[in-house]
Amino acid sequence: MDDGKAAPQPHAGLSLDLLIAAPRGFCAGVDRAIRIVELTLEKYGAPVYVRHEIVHNRFVVDGLRKKGAIFVEELGEVPDGRPVVFSAHGVPKVVTGDAEDRGLDYVDATCPLVSKVHRQAERLIKDGRHILFIGHRGHPEVIGTLGQVPEGSMTLVETVADVLALAPIDPEALAFLTQTTLSVDDTAEIIAALRQRFPAIVAPRGEDICYATSNRQTAVKLLAAESDAVIVLGAPNSSNSVRLVEVSQREGTRALLIQRAADLDLGWLEGVRTLGITAGASAPEVLVRELVDRLGRHFTIKERELDGIVESMTFKLPRGLEAA
Ligand code: SF4
Repeated sequence: MDDGKAAPQPHAGLSLDLLIAAPRGFCAGVDRAIRIVELTLEKYGAPVYVRHEIVHNRFVVDGLRKKGAIFVEELGEVPDGRPVVFSAHGVPKVVTGDAEDRGLDYVDATCPLVSKVHRQAERLIKDGRHILFIGHRGHPEVIGTLGQVPEGSMTLVETVADVLALAPIDPEALAFLTQTTLSVDDTAEIIAALRQRFPAIVAPRGEDICYATSNRQTAVKLLAAESDAVIVLGAPNSSNSVRLVEVSQREGTRALLIQRAADLDLGWLEGVRTLGITAGASAPEVLVRELVDRLGRHFTIKERELDGIVESMTFKLPRGLEAA
């Protein structure tokens, strides 16, 4: 451990200004999903099964595991008679159908903002439209959203090049929706390409990219502008965390994604006088404090939080858990 008392301190005595982004870290959907697992554990006792990582953060998942949650990838791994929680990213309809067929007690922790996209998809299909869904192939939210509608009625679009290659049967009957955790700027480019190729395309009723994703991207832009380098606390499979790294890099500021303070190679900070720190929507604040503490053991630090949007979003818990 490089933080041990006898460990070398290559940067000792050097000063480092820390700028902390606001808002950062947990969003209302993540908060709710974690609470749902905790309340399900209280209601049913351990073990409670959770299909997929409840949110993409190892620290959170390990914490819930200690409380009695068992994480599995497929419903088939859940034994009869035990409750199962579906993750914040959402699940294809076939999964909820299978749970019902087996008589499993399931609790759906899908973020309400993801569910909103699901309901829009259903409505658009009913209206006879083919949906172009902007998202990242293989992400659980994308798998869940594609699984809300009959096969073949939604096409995944990842890039502007994908838009140019589309050959829809009826260009007059298209609509688009997006994953909630995309880059606001990249998505705007893809949407512009869609509108140019298909002027009649129907847009979502509101913005699909969620408030937390766009607020954190706005905040990291400000952070990147004032920092020599930016560290994002988050998991490599967390879409919104990876986007924060890209947004910073796009602003011309090098950026690094780490899961825990111990993952940081201090050599990466060579030449950095002002370090920006932020956290993805599934990374708890304790991980930011852990990083600040570690840096404080190696540098003389000054810490300042940037001004940013104050978030007040909260989501209701599913019926049956509120009073648990
Ligand atoms: Fe919901 Fe957005 Fe948080 Fe995802 S990042 S859980 S969509 S609020």
